[in-house]
Amino acid sequence: MPRRIVIIGAGQAGRRCAEVLRELDPAAEITIFGAEAHLPYDRPPLSKAVLLAKDSGTALFPRSAEFYVENRITLHLGEAVTRIAPSDRRIETAQGRSLIYDALVLATGAMARRLAIAEADDPRVMVLRSLDDARALRPRLVERPRLAVVGGGLIGMEVAASARQMGCAVDVLEAGERLMARGLPATISTYMANLHRQRGVMLRMNARLDRIESSAQELTLHLADGFLRVDLVLVGIGASPETALAEAAGITVADGIVTDRCGRTSHPDIYAAGEVARFPHPMNADVSTRQESWQVAQEQPIAVAHAILGQDRPYDVIPWHWTDQYDCNIQVLGETTDTLHQIERAEGERLTLLCCDGDGRVRGAVLINNGREATPCRRLIASGKVFDLAALADTTRPLLSFL
Ligand code: ADP
Repeated sequence: MPRRIVIIGAGQAGRRCAEVLRELDPAAEITIFGAEAHLPYDRPPLSKAVLLAKDSGTALFPRSAEFYVENRITLHLGEAVTRIAPSDRRIETAQGRSLIYDALVLATGAMARRLAIAEADDPRVMVLRSLDDARALRPRLVERPRLAVVGGGLIGMEVAASARQMGCAVDVLEAGERLMARGLPATISTYMANLHRQRGVMLRMNARLDRIESSAQELTLHLADGFLRVDLVLVGIGASPETALAEAAGITVADGIVTDRCGRTSHPDIYAAGEVARFPHPMNADVSTRQESWQVAQEQPIAVAHAILGQDRPYDVIPWHWTDQYDCNIQVLGETTDTLHQIERAEGERLTLLCCDGDGRVRGAVLINNGREATPCRRLIASGKVFDLAALADTTRPLLSFL
């Protein structure tokens, strides 16, 4: 009898699980449930190409509707799973459907955190997480509002850049001391802060938003040290993993669904894929990590698909994420915490920042407009070799020559 595989979540990770499973097992019955009505899409274009209307559709929807038909992947879109009954290996949906599985994949992703203050439910206070969010935000930005971005993280700064390019007046309110602290070392946060200031973004660091007062004309943001009047607010204060179904089913959860390196949860036959999963860090098995990145959604499901078929193929790639703001591309590889030694290799507008441990091993890298160095950097990191740090700074020597 063919294996019955049910995937909850029709995002990038759910889609990747399905397509890898189909390659590995031509006979499996593969069913995806997605709460959203859209075909599976990738999120990186939402804060850039979709807002700027530069999206051709292919980056957003990597697979057409025909792909799913041809590959016998059954999609139930606009149909949320409401319950998992692990002892019966059964799921139930909001539409009253009940399905038995042999393997279940939770690819439920994360949801935008909301502000817990008064008036945060005004429709002019928006978030950007889904395609519907992006499609609702774009027409507002076209009107060139005065925009306040709450949260100077990845999403907030990408939206700030898009909004500036669309002619909006933009203020960013960041609670912390620097921008994008979750994903960038301090020197690169400073670089990005300068870039945004040059483009006319007003940055307010250590900001505390106490209250939003709304009137028909505008929103007044009451800050600890003053107030700001705007037409629109975009909240980008992080995301929380969608773990409610897993928790209700008794699966181990700790800021994400806890899995092994192959995506297996605490429950047999149940797996977690993509940004909802918390797994051993590929570069340090002593700590666990949950990563919100295109890479995790794209590649960790390969491990899950293999595990479902009884094959061990751990997810052990060097973490990688990127951001595009204005015409600046930043790529981050491996570990880049500020405790590491930083070695700068600058060539005009391009910069490679190598992050090395005390022994001289390259643990991570940040590339500014220098994507061509991503492969050499990956190889330096993967080599685990000890280098002479002074020599690594010599830009007359190509990085590959060190290997
Ligand atoms: P996202 O994926 O939504 O961009 P990040 O974790 O990259 O999430 O960034 C969220 C940012 O929001 C962080 O820089 C954090 O310091 C900031 N932040 C969190 N809560 C608030 C708040 N109430 N006001 C302003 N900034 C906040």
